[in-house]
This record gives sequence, structure tokens and C-alpha cells, in this order.
Amino acid sequence: MIGTERVIYQDGNHFNILLEDFGHGEMVQANVHMIIDNGEGIILDPGGHKVFKHLLTEVGSLIGLNNLKYIFLSHQDPDIVAAINGWLMTTNATAIAPKLWLRFIPHFGVDRFVIHRIKGIKDTGGTIKLGKNKLYIIPAHFIHSPGNFQIYDPVSKTLYSGDLGVSLGQDYMYVKDFDRHIKYMEVFHRRYIPCNKVLKTWVKMVRKLDIETIAPQHGAIMKGKDIVNRFLDWIEDLECGLDIMEPIYEINDKELEL
Ligand code: FE
Repeated sequence: MIGTERVIYQDGNHFNILLEDFGHGEMVQANVHMIIDNGEGIILDPGGHKVFKHLLTEVGSLIGLNNLKYIFLSHQDPDIVAAINGWLMTTNATAIAPKLWLRFIPHFGVDRFVIHRIKGIKDTGGTIKLGKNKLYIIPAHFIHSPGNFQIYDPVSKTLYSGDLGVSLGQDYMYVKDFDRHIKYMEVFHRRYIPCNKVLKTWVKMVRKLDIETIAPQHGAIMKGKDIVNRFLDWIEDLECGLDIMEPIYEINDKELEL
């Protein structure tokens, strides 16, 4: 069963759960989140084949597979989409994914009998109903994928930030000391986010939300307004991608070291 540290929020009818981490070995560590409201569930970025059957069992034991209403795919990466065919074959859930990627996702091997259950989200995002509440699907394009969404849950005040706020290599589940945490986030953001303009635009949007928790798809969770604001201040001014990598296009005739 779920350890208490994996319950990000609960109030009797509404639960935000970080599912057990079944991904080990060569895979990048990934968080699979679940939101349950009045018995209905959504799973966020469920990952690949090696974790699929374990997660399916866990979702089944938490709410019963028939109550899984949505599978959210924030963007097209394999650590998010690879096992989507299995999820569609074994549940009645509707998958939602950026419309931009709908013609690419079938390359992961989606059966034609279930493909119609992957629905496209238009660039502007919107809301979906889960149980008796709604979730905001908010645009986060170019963070890092050109078609990318995040979820804001107004009940728990959690922002599921996907590939933003990611940390790699730390040995804790919740960020306690933000200054110490920066080194685990920095390398990823500097390389995977295309430029600072994207970050500034995003921060301007999310500052309008009442955020208690930022829950990324990899690494530690940022809980509490102080840490959330520290993160927004840090990411707003981070130089990354093209800001720091130019010139990146040069022909190199050295043989590759493989
Ligand atoms: Fe990604």
C-alpha cells in the first residue's frame, strides 16, 4: 500500500498520490502521479513497459481499474507514452495528449481498436472534470517539448509541472533546502529548456495560480509556498538552451568516440 510520504494531499474525497517508483536500472527516474476525486482517477505520464504492469496493479488496488477516467500524456516522450497501448487495452480510460503529437504517438504501437480513445488537447488547453471537481490543463509548450501541457489541481493547489522543476540524483522525496537543491536541477534545465523567454512567459502565467505544491515528473517535490516561490524566482531568471549554447551549429569532422 501507499506510504504516507507518497500522499501529497488528502481530504477524504480528494487524493493526490505519488505512485510507487517501479523504474530502476537504466531508466531515468520518473514520478507517476495520480489524482483521485470522489472515486474517479487520472494517472499522469504513466511511463514505459517495465513499470506498466506494476502501476496497473497499484491503480487497480487504489480505485479499481474501471474508475480510471483519464490518462494524461503531457508530451510525446517515451518515459511518458511508451506503454499507452497497454493502458488503453486494460482500462476504459480516455487518454488525453497534445493534439500536436497525435500522429506521432501511434508509432509506440497503438492498436487500431483503441486509438480513437487518445484525444487531442488543442494548444490553448482547458479544463476536464474529475469526480466533482475540475482540473486545469495548462499550456507549457517548449518546456521542453513544443507541444506540452501541465495540470493544475485547484483542490490540492498542486501544479504538476512535468519536465519543469525536474531534479536528478538527489536522495530525498521532498525539497527541504532550496539552495542545496539547485545543483540537482540545474544541468537538466540548462540543456532541455530552449531559452529563458519560455521560462519568463511561463512564470508570468503560473504566478496567477494559488500553488502549494509543485510536483515534477522526475525527482523531488516542492511543497510549501516558500519553496514554490523560491523555485519560480530561480527559474524565471535561468539562462538555458540557446541563451548559453551558441554557436551550436558547427560541422565537426572528428570521428565519434563510441
Ligand atoms: Fe520529456
